[in-house]
Amino acid sequence: MIEDKNPQRTSIAQLGEFGLIDHLTKNFEINQESTLKGIGDDAAVLDFGTRKTVVSTDLLIEGVHFDLAYMPLKHLGYKSVVVNLSDICAMNAKPTQITVSVAVSNRFPLEALEELYEGIARAAKEYKIDVIGGDTTSSQKGMIISITALGEADENEIVYRNGAKATDLLVVTGDIGAAYMGLQVLEREKQVFQVNPNSQPDLDAYTYLIERQLKPEARTDIRSLLHALEIKPTAMIDVSDGISSEIMHLCKQSNVGCNLYEDKLPLDPQFISVCEEFNIDSTTIAINGGEDYELLFTIAMSDFDKIKGNPNFTIIGHMTEPGEGLHLVTRANTKIQLKARGWNALSE
Ligand SMILES: [Mg+2]
Repeated sequence: MIEDKNPQRTSIAQLGEFGLIDHLTKNFEINQESTLKGIGDDAAVLDFGTRKTVVSTDLLIEGVHFDLAYMPLKHLGYKSVVVNLSDICAMNAKPTQITVSVAVSNRFPLEALEELYEGIARAAKEYKIDVIGGDTTSSQKGMIISITALGEADENEIVYRNGAKATDLLVVTGDIGAAYMGLQVLEREKQVFQVNPNSQPDLDAYTYLIERQLKPEARTDIRSLLHALEIKPTAMIDVSDGISSEIMHLCKQSNVGCNLYEDKLPLDPQFISVCEEFNIDSTTIAINGGEDYELLFTIAMSDFDKIKGNPNFTIIGHMTEPGEGLHLVTRANTKIQLKARGWNALSE
């Protein structure tokens, strides 16, 4: 299993708080015009001009949201950023800045924080966002990461959860369920490793699933794809808890019902074969698994021609009058009521 093989252990106390922040953030560059002042003063200064600012915050706690037994710190840093950017994307806005706050117990040496920040820096570079501030402090136990993301958009571009209409089509990007099965594979390997620390796992058959779990990406590309197609979603949310629970949010806030079609769910072949290996129903996992960080949105029926056949998008259902309820229409054409079995990690 993945473990820290770095023999060097520098005590964080040696650097002092300000020395530590300087040390961890010295390589962060400014990429965004809206960042007038990043790290280095009491506060960052941002200028979005006439644009609107969207803000989202996440708190990640060791043992609740992540397990360092199989989550390398670099990946954790990267993923912590991605889950926040995903929420900005879900507003149809462009992510621009983040603040990062970390609390660690003395179980973690400086080298561990360096790895975490390497992942954060990697994500910042990849998504061209600026790290503009944050805090590091000590905790009694474990690691806590809090990230706040900011983004910008014109007022008329912003998409809320409450705009879906009764005849709208329901669309999802990418594929779903893989991140959850990636976690199942990693959990299984962790247990094998606990019994036999010399075991060498062969994870070749699971690479896509594990990547979806350990290194998800935020769909920052969807905003421009939709713009180019001249489509503005009527409502949107990101898939952090599984589409079943996300559909419930959209329906509740838009006051509509929904029919979701089992045969339309976009599933990766590796996901399907690993569900078979684990003897789990792939549809159940696809709609209830979490952490896919795809975007789920509704569009007007009149936009159907613009989106049909586009490999980035799958139409998986349609909205209905609120009285019709929320249903999964199975391959056998039976209707099953959707239930929230949202998965309680890395939510929102
Ligand atoms: Mg969200």
